[in-house]
Amino acid sequence: MVLDRPGTPLKLADLPVPEPGAGQILVRVGACGVCRTDLHVVDGELTEPALPIVPGHEVVGHVVGVGADVQRFRIGERVGIPWLGWTCGVCRYCRSERENLCDTPKFTGYQINGGYAEYALADARYCFPIEGDYSDAEAAPLMCAGLIGYRSLEMAGEAERLGIYGFGAAAHIVAQVARHRGQQVYAFTRPGDEQAQVFARDLGAVWVGGADQRPPDPLDAAIIFAPVGALVPAALAAVGKGGVVVAGGIHMSDIPSFPYSILWGERVVRSVANLTRSDAEEFLALAPQVPVRTEVHTFPLEQANEALACLREGRLRGAAVLLPG
Ligand SMILES: [Zn+2]
Ligand SMILES: [Zn+2]
Repeated sequence: MVLDRPGTPLKLADLPVPEPGAGQILVRVGACGVCRTDLHVVDGELTEPALPIVPGHEVVGHVVGVGADVQRFRIGERVGIPWLGWTCGVCRYCRSERENLCDTPKFTGYQINGGYAEYALADARYCFPIEGDYSDAEAAPLMCAGLIGYRSLEMAGEAERLGIYGFGAAAHIVAQVARHRGQQVYAFTRPGDEQAQVFARDLGAVWVGGADQRPPDPLDAAIIFAPVGALVPAALAAVGKGGVVVAGGIHMSDIPSFPYSILWGERVVRSVANLTRSDAEEFLALAPQVPVRTEVHTFPLEQANEALACLREGRLRGAAVLLPG
């Protein structure tokens, strides 16, 4: 499924199966998750896609070809391909263990063809073995909703009371990890979104409400997954002194101005950008221990546009996943 131009639907296309070059693996895609970032690419809110592009950066499949110099994987192994597809290795960020901030990165499904396809090529250094008894479809959301969610959770610190704004794919994974760590989850959904509120309760949230509501207790931290800038002052008002507000998405509508008093008291606002390979190693080892259970809604690959529409309209419980073939 190919994006020719932002703002237009993806088109089903028949492309040649690529050959792995040096350092690359060819993966037969078993499943590919649909992430909100894909929507931002398709809608043109992210402005640097290498067009035409095959979207998709939550790719799980089996290695069917290895290029020269690949020691890391063998044919037949199950792997995951995440958003971070390539980094320069020499910029000041790469050299200080912050490759997520690389000056000249390439991202899967954005500058490198991704997993909305039957086959995907990837730089083996950025791929990960996928273990555990997850099906391909269940494992797919771990690759971004899980990884970026985990990084966001780490940035939120050791919050006893953790707010989560936007209860979709990332939140449903983060809530499970947070509970595993003994944190209390306060879930904020779109006002009146009964389905999301039931979902959050099922995942053990101690309090569930609309994003326009104040929690009964001040929070220690809040993670915002919904792409809504107005949630930044809302979350700041919900955290107590020293509280941290983490914006976990790659794009957000403008943040309205707010009084300094809601930032005062050493409250912190920060974003989380991309992932490092060590985030992936940590999270993929942790997920089966929790164990994180993903709730997925599968679509055939050729219904990628429908899956994106469901995500845009908030009609999904859990994560959308595309299945080729
Ligand atoms: Zn770099
Ligand atoms: Zn993503």
